[in-house]
Amino acid sequence: MPDHNCKLLVIGAGPGGYVCAIKAAQLGVETIIVESVKPGGTCLNVGCIPSKALIHVADEYHKLKSWTADNSLGISASSPSINLSDSVRWKDGIVRRLNGGVEGLLKKAGVKSIQGTANFLDGKTVAVTTVDGRQTISADNIVIATGSVPVELPNLPFSDSVLSSTEALALEAVPDTMAVVGGGYIGLEIGSAFAKLGARVVVVEAADRILPQYDADLTAPVVKSLATHGIEVMTKARALGVAGKDLEIETSDGSRKIINVDKILVTVGRKPCTAGCSLEELSLTMKEAFINIDDKCRTSMRGVYAIGDVTGEPMLAHRAMAQGELVAEVIAGQNSSWDKVAMPAVCFTDPEIVTVGLSPSEAIAKDLAVTVGQFPFQANGRAMTTESEQGFIRVVAAKDSGVVLGIQAVGAGVSELSAAFALALEMGACADDIAATVHAHPTMSESFAEACMQVTGRALHI
Ligand code: FAD
Ligand code: NAD
Repeated sequence: MPDHNCKLLVIGAGPGGYVCAIKAAQLGVETIIVESVKPGGTCLNVGCIPSKALIHVADEYHKLKSWTADNSLGISASSPSINLSDSVRWKDGIVRRLNGGVEGLLKKAGVKSIQGTANFLDGKTVAVTTVDGRQTISADNIVIATGSVPVELPNLPFSDSVLSSTEALALEAVPDTMAVVGGGYIGLEIGSAFAKLGARVVVVEAADRILPQYDADLTAPVVKSLATHGIEVMTKARALGVAGKDLEIETSDGSRKIINVDKILVTVGRKPCTAGCSLEELSLTMKEAFINIDDKCRTSMRGVYAIGDVTGEPMLAHRAMAQGELVAEVIAGQNSSWDKVAMPAVCFTDPEIVTVGLSPSEAIAKDLAVTVGQFPFQANGRAMTTESEQGFIRVVAAKDSGVVLGIQAVGAGVSELSAAFALALEMGACADDIAATVHAHPTMSESFAEACMQVTGRALHI
């Protein structure tokens, strides 16, 4: 006899799993959630939240530092200092508050939480190893929300000096020098933060440019800012291994080079967390290393669902949460399926990048006739008053109907515009609708309306 029976068992309490469990319980589904580490998963404990906390500390410190030199604002400050271990304590406090918040929300919704590691016995039964021993749970439905873990390079195994993002976000002191292997989301967010905190940072990227998933126009302001912050970027370069504590690389011309560093941060992607839970018992259909799902997040086994990073790109917390809600509705008997138009992505570099929908080149690759409107922050009053003139907003609209197909932006604080961008796509807005909407003055968001006016060649302020 199993120790517990329930209608829904969720494995993993990251953003996907905990949202799924809360929503299911709200819909009257008897739900158990099992988590081996802490509620909140990668995002809350070692990902989104800790990295944004570090970025904030770095920005504030860097701002103060910049006021010690001549500046046009007329502000002067005497030499600031940073105690990273205090910053880490502050970050840990935020994480603890959020851990408690998730725990409380699960409890309030009536979800039973079990701390332990789940292992599949079959498609309906799971054994959970807890500190008090083993428990078995039998469930009508099981959601796999086990997330992802950092990719480790065989020639650069993680160690005291070769770090994944998890260890980098817990460093108690700023290293003098740091090599970042992989110039993607994590490498550039964390690498930029350490550069602002005073480390000499070198980025080693295998592709011919950083953030290769974005177009070059969009990343140009980030490339410029990396240089401004003294970050050296080596593209078409490969990490070969460690030499003592230094990093050996092959440069774009094929030569070998040693980079003297204190810490090496490896951020070359993340892989699904499918090991260690006896998933092989289920023989699920996979899509490369990830679990294959349909538009209701169903796997190839009846009653077994998968959500979040374990199902592949885009590996984003808000996607995991949206999938979690969807699965809860499906299990509660609703006829829901994945019908999202917009999946915003934000890269919290300096300046930030936001994308939603199609870029101009993606639209062209789909043989779509489009018109593109673009407005630079250089022509935006608010941007001038906050010294944030780098970047632009770009709108891609269907040539015939004007329906907005994609929006991209790069600039200071544009992450907060992602909601307006996603809403525009989700509501099927035309560029004219946005252009005719009154945007408050003076805000960066006025550039959104102006880019939409530019779609028809009628921007007012350029
Ligand atoms: P996870 O959050 O990985 O949670 C899975 C949970 O399952 C974990 O808590 C794990 O302990 C548990 N688990 C695994 N196996 C078992 C088992 N057998 N039994 C019990 N429990 C188990 N995304 C964004 O959208 N915005 C950002 O700004 C952002 N920043 C990031 C910064 C960093 C440094 C990193 C690493 C990631 C970032 N991400 C960001 C990505 C985001 O963290 C993930 O997309 C998100 O956490 C995925 O949620 P999930 O629920 O699928 O999995
Ligand atoms: P990534 O895919 O963003 O970047 C990895 C980079 O490493 C790529 O540019 C790739 O070309 C490069 N690379 C791969 N192998 C290499 C090698 N051997 N040597 C040098 N470079 C190499 O991966 P990530 O930065 O590890 O992030 C993982 C996932 O986490 C992302 O897919 C993203 O969805 C998620 N994430 C999101 C956010 C956010 O939403 N702001 C922030 C952090 C992470």
